[in-house]
Amino acid sequence: MADETMSPEAAREAASVLFDESSKSPQTRRYDHARQLVSSGAAQIAARDAEHRGDSPRDVFEKRGIWPGDTSFVQSRLKWAPQLEASQALVSAARVEIREAIATARGFSAASWEDIAVVLGYTQLHAEGKLDDPDGYPILPGVAAWRFAATGKGPGERVIWDRYGDYVSWKCWSCTKSVREGHPENGVNAQEGHGEDCARFAREKAAERARWEADDE
Ligand SMILES: [Zn+2]
Repeated sequence: MADETMSPEAAREAASVLFDESSKSPQTRRYDHARQLVSSGAAQIAARDAEHRGDSPRDVFEKRGIWPGDTSFVQSRLKWAPQLEASQALVSAARVEIREAIATARGFSAASWEDIAVVLGYTQLHAEGKLDDPDGYPILPGVAAWRFAATGKGPGERVIWDRYGDYVSWKCWSCTKSVREGHPENGVNAQEGHGEDCARFAREKAAERARWEADDE
């Protein structure tokens, strides 16, 4: 039954493919999967853009000599620019999505900045010593998470930082009000805008007070 038996070469190849996949960490597999999604997303955007753009001659061809004065080489901008533009658009869109997902986590799930930092991978970066400011200023994972939500700047990106002016907006699940949350070093007091009888705000204030009292002992 030739159909059911593999040649030794094919069997070895199949085994090595299997081995390569299973030897990848879950994180690597997740990144690979994300890269595939970005690549196919970019291709879709580029195809849609091409439909709507109608190709102007300038977009299709660009004379670009290999050396000054050379006119022999004609490069089609369409070959490389759409995928690049679409990938860049995806990066921008993803940053907006991340910041909105953080606001949802804070507002509707009352997730702590530390919990959010774990999911963002910032806690791991911190453990590896890679989270600090480019100027060497130490930064904690939870603060980095807040900072990304407030300013759009991620780890390693320099911020001209008005730490008392920046804030994250989210909608409180408990009182349904819009809350502006400033720098986490101010604790619960960083949250402005809860309703007067907000149960969540009262609970978080009580928890903070309990932590302070525990620290005093
Ligand atoms: Zn509230």
